[in-house]
Amino acid sequence: VTVSDDDLLRVFDDLQIDHDNKAHYAGWLEKKLLINRCDACGRLHHPPLSMCPECWSTAVTPEAVSGSGTVYLKVALYQGPVIPEVAYAEPHVLVTVDLVEQNGVRFTSSFRGDGTSVEIGSPVHLAWGTRRGSPYPVWEAGPG
Ligand SMILES: [Zn+2]
Repeated sequence: VTVSDDDLLRVFDDLQIDHDNKAHYAGWLEKKLLINRCDACGRLHHPPLSMCPECWSTAVTPEAVSGSGTVYLKVALYQGPVIPEVAYAEPHVLVTVDLVEQNGVRFTSSFRGDGTSVEIGSPVHLAWGTRRGSPYPVWEAGPG
């Protein structure tokens, strides 16, 4: 991931970018979902932290995950922040997904497609949309 901190802050000026999460968001620009793995104990964690919450090692490395998982939580938004690419009339569905790589490691984002077709436990896969002109991770129905 080669984007500078200044460029990352400019591209994602609507997000709270910090030193702990900057690699995660820089990954979006390359359409990679980067999740921190602890070099000491091997555990994944998300949201990104500079220290492993399991063993407290500070040796953590972001790595791309497969983007396969199952729906853990589904939320339908009828109102929300004004985002050019988001319409709330349908409503807009967000899902929290249990990633296949490790039990309990989850990633939340928009669901793209018929929101009524997805339920708790449904298999989903990562895809990429566009939000404010930049790549944005979305979930779609079906295994990856
Ligand atoms: Zn660890």
